[in-house]
Amino acid sequence: MKPAVFLDRDGTIIENVGYLRRLDQIAPFPWSVDAIRALNRAALPVVVITNQAGVARGFFAADFVDETHRALTMRLEAGGARVDAYYYCPHHPDGKVEQYSITCDCRKPKCGMIDRAASDLGLDPARSFFVGDTWLDVGAGRAAGARTILVRTGAGAEEERSLKPPDLSADAIVDNLAAAVSWILLHLRSGDRAIGDVDRRSPI
Ligand SMILES: [Mg+2]
Ligand SMILES: [Zn+2]
Repeated sequence: MKPAVFLDRDGTIIENVGYLRRLDQIAPFPWSVDAIRALNRAALPVVVITNQAGVARGFFAADFVDETHRALTMRLEAGGARVDAYYYCPHHPDGKVEQYSITCDCRKPKCGMIDRAASDLGLDPARSFFVGDTWLDVGAGRAAGARTILVRTGAGAEEERSLKPPDLSADAIVDNLAAAVSWILLHLRSGDRAIGDVDRRSPI
């Protein structure tokens, strides 16, 4: 069982545009490719974990979420960065589309998506990290037993100021995904440090 890095999508990897409904709204932050590539080089699996209640609300179809993730993958791969897997929750208890309008076990702050990823990919949440821009992300990461980092991009700056739920705290609050990745690489436990193939091949 390996450590991994779980990343929220909207407001963490890409600009938060509310409900993203068109592929041309996908806007990675300028540092996202380099930050994810650094995780790849450290041989840490990168797993996106995202609430997409727009499916339950009827704003877009589940297929569109998959299409979004294929498009994001292409953008990241153009810069040499790789996401190992995507998990999304299409549900919301107050949705309009019947099949998705349920109280599920995957919508963050629940940790169903992390648990599923851990079992699918052989990951150890207790040695992993969750990075996101809302307390829902921190709550989900914490529920799974991971260390958690709140970023100030997206909704994060406002979340930090005003909305912290009682009894919830992040292990770190940093400006953005690049800073979060630096924090993760500094705080990897010794047994979790792996050198990826890319590092072995590069000079110096
Ligand atoms: Mg977010
Ligand atoms: Zn769900």
